[in-house]
Amino acid sequence: MVWLVIVGLLVLLWAVSLGKIHLGSSLNSKTTFLNDNASAGLPSRKNVLLVIAHPDDETMFFSPTINYLTSRGHNVYILCLSTGNADGIGGIRKEELYLASVVLKVPSQRVKVVDHPDLQDGFHKVWNCNLLEMIIKEEVDSKAIDVIITFDNYGVSGHCNHCDVHRGVRKLLQNSSQQVEAWELVSNNILRKYCGPVDIWLSILLARKCLNRELQSLLNENPFQSYAAMAQHRSQWIWFRKLFVSFSSYTYVNTLKMMNR
Ligand SMILES: [Zn+2]
Repeated sequence: MVWLVIVGLLVLLWAVSLGKIHLGSSLNSKTTFLNDNASAGLPSRKNVLLVIAHPDDETMFFSPTINYLTSRGHNVYILCLSTGNADGIGGIRKEELYLASVVLKVPSQRVKVVDHPDLQDGFHKVWNCNLLEMIIKEEVDSKAIDVIITFDNYGVSGHCNHCDVHRGVRKLLQNSSQQVEAWELVSNNILRKYCGPVDIWLSILLARKCLNRELQSLLNENPFQSYAAMAQHRSQWIWFRKLFVSFSSYTYVNTLKMMNR
């Protein structure tokens, strides 16, 4: 009986959280991420570069951020540092990324997939930080990037390629004289990672408690779009990834932390 009540409460909490996301949250309307000028009536369109390691990272982990940015008119660019060729289907996965990006309203011409012999997908492949820094810098310069968004030092899943991408961006920030703003996606513990939309409450609370605004909570205004985008990664769209996309908090909310401090 007690278990039934607990399960019932969890289902109710899940539904309320989804409703909050779907109807548009008044809490989230206070989010000012990259939107300071807009609130003052000034144009605020920025060039934002999302730096990822593999095709599907953009949808599985960053879709709340992408949806937030595109819906506010920012120019989103995606730099994917490998084709995801661990299983020998890098060519297919590269094309899938272009298809998923279109669903996420990022034009294909703003998506770049790197296929470098020293940056190959794999758990035991160490990616050189200097090489990563050079490639990312080239993209930042050529696209006049204002803001970089990437993984944090754990990279959500602990995948070494994700962690190396973080180190590449970190190195660029240390060596660059340019004023590029950078944000990292905060990795959640396993409980928060798989509590679906319920995590929005904690994410919003933590961001609001952070007085210097170095934490931002971005709700996914269109989680169904994320699901549709993930379906474009057909080679990866198997049952456990369908479960992941449904139960992962990263489908519903991203907590971003400023890297420049
Ligand atoms: Zn990945």
